[in-house]
Amino acid sequence: MSKVRTRFAPSPTGRMHVGNLRSALYEFLIAKHAGGDFMLRIEDTDQERFVEGAVDIIYHTLEETGLVHDEGPDKDGGYGPYVQSERMKTGIYMKYAKELVEKGEAYYCFCDKERLESLKTEVDGKEIMMYDKHCLHLSKEEVEANLAAGKPFVIRQNIPNEGTTTFHDELYGDITVDNAELDDMILIKSDGYPTYNFANVIDDHLMHTTHVIRSDEWLSSVPLHLQLFHELGFKAPKYAHISPIMKNDNGGKRKLSKRKDPEAAVSYYKEQGIPTDAVKEYLLNIANSTFENWRRANSDKKIEEFDFQLNKMSVSGALFDMIKLLDIGKTVISKMTAEDVYEKSLKWAEEYDNELSDLLKDKEYALKIFGIERGNKKPRKDIAK
Ligand code: GLU
Ligand code: ZN
Repeated sequence: MSKVRTRFAPSPTGRMHVGNLRSALYEFLIAKHAGGDFMLRIEDTDQERFVEGAVDIIYHTLEETGLVHDEGPDKDGGYGPYVQSERMKTGIYMKYAKELVEKGEAYYCFCDKERLESLKTEVDGKEIMMYDKHCLHLSKEEVEANLAAGKPFVIRQNIPNEGTTTFHDELYGDITVDNAELDDMILIKSDGYPTYNFANVIDDHLMHTTHVIRSDEWLSSVPLHLQLFHELGFKAPKYAHISPIMKNDNGGKRKLSKRKDPEAAVSYYKEQGIPTDAVKEYLLNIANSTFENWRRANSDKKIEEFDFQLNKMSVSGALFDMIKLLDIGKTVISKMTAEDVYEKSLKWAEEYDNELSDLLKDKEYALKIFGIERGNKKPRKDIAK
């Protein structure tokens, strides 16, 4: 069997969502438990959404949470570059796109905005666009003349209209889709950049990715990805699509939202002083129900030793539970030494709470307080953050 290789592939679009951290954690564990590699890949092909400083946030988050990558832009493992815009400059995406064009599996499309607009239809109140393969029927001469004239183009994947595609997801099981429902997606954009959908396939192949764990918003694109793997003669990785973390709201359930919920941002936990270990344990708790018992029986073990199982996760989104998280925080802090609690509290207070940091200046006194009933068999569990 080949070495397990997973990748965390965030797009540098701003703050880190707790859902991103969750994917990173699961990918880290899948790799580490099997003695494999955990990679960091920056997916910056969407230049319009790029946010300055976002890459630093990604680095800091991984560092602070102890999800140390074995390979990444700052650690060459021989499969680089690890930033998609740099990979683009090497010409690999264009090379494979042209190979697909040669094989008739992709084609140049010169349609302008107006023509594409005219293809839009409304289905169930939602506007959708299915490309009509117009440019698939251009002759070789027409294509060459257009290219020579410098006409803007995209390259589209040529998806068959008939038949079905069946694929396996580690969480969802086997899924079958009608090919007629799949659009001829863009592989190379008019600015020359690959789309995420194309780049992730090429990169996962070239970087020898064995497992992909990502948000289920990508589930419907898997048939497109798998066709690319197939047409290029690549072996596809295993896929696990995870559902979003949910929240109770007005008697209903909805996705944890970056806009509405402060707890959706990873930075929130740091600001609150909730230990990163508690956040990680909580995220494992909502993934595998066996984790809680394992933790009870193995209170000193590292989480890397837990046998994390993708297929034990539920496909219906887990409900976010702050009370549970704080409860885990209490247990995590109860196992720290007084010195450790002191150092961490001071560091936090210096950034977020002047009054507390003043109080903590008397270290000896603070250590005595933090040391009350600490270190015995049943330590006190009264500090959650
Ligand atoms: N850049 C994608 C995202 O942030 C990654 C999805 C994947 O892991 O393939 O959603
Ligand atoms: Zn076209």
